[in-house]
Amino acid sequence: MPEIKTSDFSAASTKAIADPKLRRALDRVASGFHVARLQRIEEATPQVWDGWKTQAREIKAHTIEHLDYYLDLLYKNVTAAGGQLHFANDAKQANDIVSHIVRTRNIKIATKSKSMVSEELGLNPVLESLGVEVWETDLGEYIIQLAEETPSHLVAPALHKSKEDVAELFTEKLGIPYDEDIYHMAATARTVLRDKFMQADLGISGANFVVAETGTLVIITNEGNGRLCTSAPRVHIGITGMEKVIPSMQDLSIFLRLLPQSATGQRITSYVSMTTGPRRSDDEDGPEEFHLILVDNGRSRMLADPALREALYCIRCGACLNICPVYARIGGHAYGWVYPGPIGAVVSPMLVGLPQAKELPQASSLCGACREVCPVNIDIPRMLLDLRKKTAESPDRAQRSAPKSERMMARLYAKLMSSPRLLHWAVRSGRTLQRLEHLVPFSPVTKGGKWIKKAPLPLLSRWTRSRDLPVLPNKTFHELWDQGIADRPSDARDV
Ligand code: SF4
Repeated sequence: MPEIKTSDFSAASTKAIADPKLRRALDRVASGFHVARLQRIEEATPQVWDGWKTQAREIKAHTIEHLDYYLDLLYKNVTAAGGQLHFANDAKQANDIVSHIVRTRNIKIATKSKSMVSEELGLNPVLESLGVEVWETDLGEYIIQLAEETPSHLVAPALHKSKEDVAELFTEKLGIPYDEDIYHMAATARTVLRDKFMQADLGISGANFVVAETGTLVIITNEGNGRLCTSAPRVHIGITGMEKVIPSMQDLSIFLRLLPQSATGQRITSYVSMTTGPRRSDDEDGPEEFHLILVDNGRSRMLADPALREALYCIRCGACLNICPVYARIGGHAYGWVYPGPIGAVVSPMLVGLPQAKELPQASSLCGACREVCPVNIDIPRMLLDLRKKTAESPDRAQRSAPKSERMMARLYAKLMSSPRLLHWAVRSGRTLQRLEHLVPFSPVTKGGKWIKKAPLPLLSRWTRSRDLPVLPNKTFHELWDQGIADRPSDARDV
């Protein structure tokens, strides 16, 4: 597996927020996707769109409820079409299966189309350790590979890079003159990669869907690289999560509309490639061998948890990232692992383990925008709350996210809010301290008498470091109420 940096979330997000270049890149691309998505909804009409979402969710829910049946059906149909289906419990098993194929087929060059699961497995270093030349062929992934970075978005891996960044990268790594014309840069990548497609012995792809009734692997792309990876080399390996199975071709039709329209606002992607088994005797092209590796790698844990199971419905469209106010400020790398954004904050703790990623469920304002845009109606905020509850109440110290001091403060707050007398006493004391600003140690420091600039005590001052906290008013709501003027807001402002 690639290095897991999820426990660095606080430090990494603080650093990302301070990066104006990153903010500009995020604003430009993610908001463009979001606007295009809204246009598609208008075009389809919101009623029809909602109907598609409901239908897609029902298909996913049904498949996940009967996953053993559909995996069995998929196995039979992949095998009947002449392919081989492998199940991998974890990253090591998946990498071992690929390594075995590579060694026994004398593979020297591999081309890859975009696959988040292969990122999850850390497959590229494994292949390189076997002496295989690995070429990412999705343009965004190619840029990331040259930059020796990891993707920062589910559908736009190089979203954090500007065209100037890419031009500099191409000059440095490919030795070509600096040229920031996007058309020229894409042409350069095409020239480099075209040769590799022709030389590769192995093509590795992910899968957007796998259809159980036919044993078909489906990938949707805009660049045609996926089709070349799956049809030009003599061996094709598809690698995907076991949740990507859907029952039938008829079910596929709804996802072929919903996925691109939610992801980038395109009506349909330029290429929809379907692979069923290896090349047949009357086929003009195609691989001699077809392998499909279905990866668990922690997904069974999600399946076993009724509160988090619906995370397996995700079709990785990225719409929840494009709308998320947290992602919009920190980008994808701050999340510290393969899956960023709101759905990453749910999936990563389940896949890498809650103790390692216990901060991620806090990476949300719980505004609910992710739930609203999700094409399969996944209730991400509910799952984030469930994970927060797990980290707050877990008897296992390693899983608990809040330090002892924070839990003490929460208990104190609960006591305060459940006792009017205690609350009034605390408010009166706070007001007194507020008036004695600069005179008494630990009193709050106010800004123009309206905002608390720095709250007292280290824990509270951390809260006000990046948040506005209004000063305590001269009269509380209860006091105003007792005076009978609570329903007159203009009076209330004057007191
Ligand atoms: S959770 Fe929903 S919106 Fe987010 S990537 Fe998955 S399918 Fe798309």
